[in-house]
Amino acid sequence: MMQEERNWAGNYRYGAAELFEPGRMEQLQEWVAKRHKIRALGSRHSFNNIADTLGSLVSLKKMNQVLELDHSRGTVTVEGGIRYGELASYLHANKYALHNLATLPHITIAGGCATRTWFGGPDW
Ligand SMILES: Cc1cc2nc3c(=O)[nH]c(=O)nc-3n(C[C@H](O)[C@H](O)[C@H](O)COP(=O)(O)OP(=O)(O)OC[C@H]3O[C@@H](n4cnc5c(N)ncnc54)[C@H](O)[C@@H]3O)c2cc1C
Repeated sequence: MMQEERNWAGNYRYGAAELFEPGRMEQLQEWVAKRHKIRALGSRHSFNNIADTLGSLVSLKKMNQVLELDHSRGTVTVEGGIRYGELASYLHANKYALHNLATLPHITIAGGCATRTWFGGPDW
């Protein structure tokens, strides 16, 4: 199933046996419980095989909602598939902002965290 699936730049072809895109937590839980080797796929911007697996890939791109904005603590809780552009728009509408952003709005925050991506900030 994944044989023709490539990363964003097109220089890498994923070798995973399957790709699952759940829309709800229950679907994800059920699917995960039946598998042994799983890796999460973000927006596929990594240029190498870091997001690949010989097992199964799961993409959370349909699970991209903001779950909670806590004004008292200044924190926001999001689902694993949300992208920088989506969260930035939501926060801006609520008069907040992130300290730093990916250079591309369609990179996922989970992928950015996993790769320790850093695109700048006050000291950059
Ligand atoms: C044009 C371009 C410019 C770039 N510029 C920079 C730059 O200036 N600085 C920099 O640091 N990087 C840069 N990168 C790299 C890029 O930022 C990272 O590859 C990106 O942050 C990865 O995010 P992704 O959503 O595409 O994840 P993917 O590439 O799909 O996955 C990356 C890792 O995140 C994990 N992951 C993804 N989603 C989840 C999840 N929900 N839960 C757990 N793990 C997850 C994957 O398993 C994998 O290990 C650039 C990439 C491109 C294509």
